[in-house]
Amino acid sequence: MNDILPDVSGTWHYIETVVRDIVQSYGYKEIRLPLLEQTELFRRSIGEVTDIVEKEMYTFDDRNGESITLRPEATASVVRAGITNGLLHNQRQKLWTSGPMFRYEKPQKGRYRQFYQFDVEALGYEGPDVDAELIIMCARMWEALGISRLTLEINSLGTAESRANYREALIEYFSGVKSQLDEDSIRRLDQNPLRILDSKNPEMQDIVLAAPVMLDYLDEDSEAHFQALKGLLDAAGVSYTVNPRLVRGLDYYSRTVFEWVTDALGSQGAVCSGGRYDALVEKLGGRPTPAIGWAMGLERLVALFGVCGGEAPANDADVFIVAVGDGTLGAAFGIAERLRDCIPGIRVDMNLGGGSFKSQLKRADKSNAGYALILGEQEIANKRAGLKPLRSTEDQTDVAFDELPAKLAELLGKA
Ligand code: ATP
Ligand code: MG
Repeated sequence: MNDILPDVSGTWHYIETVVRDIVQSYGYKEIRLPLLEQTELFRRSIGEVTDIVEKEMYTFDDRNGESITLRPEATASVVRAGITNGLLHNQRQKLWTSGPMFRYEKPQKGRYRQFYQFDVEALGYEGPDVDAELIIMCARMWEALGISRLTLEINSLGTAESRANYREALIEYFSGVKSQLDEDSIRRLDQNPLRILDSKNPEMQDIVLAAPVMLDYLDEDSEAHFQALKGLLDAAGVSYTVNPRLVRGLDYYSRTVFEWVTDALGSQGAVCSGGRYDALVEKLGGRPTPAIGWAMGLERLVALFGVCGGEAPANDADVFIVAVGDGTLGAAFGIAERLRDCIPGIRVDMNLGGGSFKSQLKRADKSNAGYALILGEQEIANKRAGLKPLRSTEDQTDVAFDELPAKLAELLGKA
């Protein structure tokens, strides 16, 4: 679990703002959810025989002896909230949420035990139009953030019925190579053979590559749905590759699944992953409601933004106020508030804790502010402040208090 420190929080803030603004520009609205849910919710939605439920959940009994889990992902909570609050009753919902998720994984670069996701979910939409919208929205985010090293993989997992046929084919195939399967895969063979395809064990890769593919078992409607999605992506100019082995690590997916992957972050290459979960709402006690969503790993996105040369706009102070001498502090507060009133978005830092003129100027310099505003007893008497450029060799000037807002707005390009 990481602390996100002030030297990088500006980048996080910038990326989160870009992502949120884009998602909202498509009509998605925020939903805020608890970090804790009843364990049963995740068992039933994500599936018993998955990495998350078998070994990654932070689960404990609360004071009532009820089993509680720190959320490992958001979709189950969104669906639970949709059902319990009646949001899906004769309505459709386009929602986003974001925050920390918890998985007890082996920590390594790009894989943490508390990590942040940004999630988007569209409930009540059958697609494939909304499937395309969710993907096109991602492409817009990469563009806005200057991220180029992501490719899109898509696949279809069909319906529960077509998956049942595929399951049979997988059991037959994997049984034939049973002696080469690892322990996890042998255990999953009967219960959940699809999960074998999601194995992270490099020694399993050849066996997985030679396995039958779901696309050969698709039902007609799912096939048409998938073709239509591809047509919409083509029309929008979003390129993709069909990866028939993409199954995703959670059980609730059906039909469309996709992943934006990069080769720039080592083996933790999945940056944004999603898919359709047409049966989940009903499974969790709601009326049948088709739905689709994606989740983006923010640590991985921040890392990729850096690899692609992205830089967040600086968020250092614009002005640092230096105040030395009797009565100057009160005037300094007055000027600082006035600047904040008059210049939207200005960042005003102020010397706190006294100190000599020299030490205050040192702090001003260290703050990275563009200008120091200097107030001494003389300045107060004349109602003029010293204005010292800190990032250029220009001379210090003095400006009447009344003219400070207009002058600084002009200098900072915020007029
Ligand atoms: P992976 O294949 O890397 O284990 P996943 O399939 O488990 O990913 P999802 O459950 O689909 O991931 O979560 C969506 C996104 O959240 C991923 O694409 C990834 O960017 C991010 N993510 C998942 N697990 C972690 C983690 N432990 N630390 C950081 N980011 C993560
Ligand atoms: Mg995982």
